[in-house]
Amino acid sequence: MAVTHPPGVPVVDDGVLISTHPASGAEVGRVPVADEAAVAATLARARAATAWWVSLGFDGRKERLLRWRSIVANRLAELADLTGRETGKPEADAIVETSAALEHLDWAAGNARRVLGPHRTRTRLLLAEHSGHVEYQPLGVVGVIGPWNYPILTPSGPISGALAAGNAVILKPSEYTPMVGQWLADTFAEAVPEHPVLQTVHGLGDVGAALCRSGVDKISFTGSTATAKKVMAACAEGLVPVVIEAGGKDALIVDADADVPAAAEAAVWGAMTNAGQTCIGIERAYAVAPVYDAFVDAVVARAGRLRVGEEIGPITMPGQIDVIRRHIEDALQRGGRAVLGGADAVRPPYVSPTVLVDVPEDSAAIREETFGPTLTITRVADAEEALAKVNALPYGLGGAVFGRANAVRIARRMTCGMVAVNSTLTFVGMSTLPFGGVADSGFGRIHGDDGLREFSRAKAITVRRARSLLPAMTFERTPAQVARIARVLRMLFGRAPR
Ligand code: NDP
Repeated sequence: MAVTHPPGVPVVDDGVLISTHPASGAEVGRVPVADEAAVAATLARARAATAWWVSLGFDGRKERLLRWRSIVANRLAELADLTGRETGKPEADAIVETSAALEHLDWAAGNARRVLGPHRTRTRLLLAEHSGHVEYQPLGVVGVIGPWNYPILTPSGPISGALAAGNAVILKPSEYTPMVGQWLADTFAEAVPEHPVLQTVHGLGDVGAALCRSGVDKISFTGSTATAKKVMAACAEGLVPVVIEAGGKDALIVDADADVPAAAEAAVWGAMTNAGQTCIGIERAYAVAPVYDAFVDAVVARAGRLRVGEEIGPITMPGQIDVIRRHIEDALQRGGRAVLGGADAVRPPYVSPTVLVDVPEDSAAIREETFGPTLTITRVADAEEALAKVNALPYGLGGAVFGRANAVRIARRMTCGMVAVNSTLTFVGMSTLPFGGVADSGFGRIHGDDGLREFSRAKAITVRRARSLLPAMTFERTPAQVARIARVLRMLFGRAPR
């Protein structure tokens, strides 16, 4: 059936969400919109499924998660095609996105026991007669709210961590990418047909809000900072904990001893992949004076060769085009220069690669998330000036540094959660690393050991092994024993550090 609304704008018609391609408007699929009762029923099914999922233990869950991994890997072409139809994303980008999702799923399944399973803690002199044990138990049901820009990868991180930790999951995909979210849940159900351990609820923002208020045990939110605040407010009503993966304005610093051609190539990839619609996309570059001209030239040469419509897909969310246009026009009006692209680059639903220089630091193109294939490049005297400018924004998601002698030192001083040295974006695909931001970019971590612990609660247990030598925690202690305890405390803790 032909859809007559503007391409890419999701429509709710008679309780059904209709998803379309952002450029052609071709219908991709339909899903039922959940109301509050449907969200509550989904939660009830998830709660009933948790006991079984927990009973499988780490090994049983691992086996099923790896079954799901195999299905996704073997049907990669189908998933890439669907993602392309729903977001406009080039096939190669969808495959790269899925590769990271598969890596995180594989890692979470294989490492959950090591990270979360029972551990004995080290014995100390005080309470030496007891052994300490810690294990990380599942929370129950985790709600995952995802964005449209990486509809496979962004929900997969928290879904993999939460499932491996023993939780059931309810996914609310973006209204722009419901079919990709449904595909993930459907393939999971093929791998795990017994119980609805991973389910979806579909709809607009109000369905996400209903999920926050439904009684889930945690919300993992990925999306804009503005929506994150609404999510936190809704979750606060029920004291529901949240992990927030919000927006960014990531920067690249190019130091004097950088490999400039490599930095330029990586800058173009980091800024323009997925048409710049990347939370950890490089939106600002700061190049030190000795390499600035060469870096700008190399970036312009490489970005100028990108093929719009092939390597650069359409802007998925039509409303974002106005933001991109405003940032470019504002930068140009305020003294910036387009050395590639510019105001004419915006031809909806496409935006051609745009490189802006001499842009004032207080302009929108430097301070606000653009989410398009644009890059500002700013000349700085040295890495110190670059760091001051990079760290001046309230965002702090990721970043990158190109250089040799001081690159890692510079990376440590960037106020953000992740930095790639001599590459861009790589940390998102490394399953052993935690992923998350600071300040307006959010808090909490997905991926890696921290990402597994994010979806569990620490349970501490002490076990008495012997009679107490220093019986402090009993009314049966004698004055002599209390005096001995006091002597031991002075011996253990009384000496000043040298
Ligand atoms: P939004 O914040 O608009 O939406 C994110 C999700 O929240 C969507 O599923 C949305 O549903 C839902 N939502 C909307 N309103 C509410 C509400 N009141 N309560 C609960 N849920 C709600 O972000 P976008 O989808 O536009 O994604 C782009 C943003 O995501 C960018 O800022 C980007 O930087 C950020 N992002 C961050 C990442 C990270 O890891 N830090 C990774 C990827 C993206 P609906 O779509 O139906 O409105």
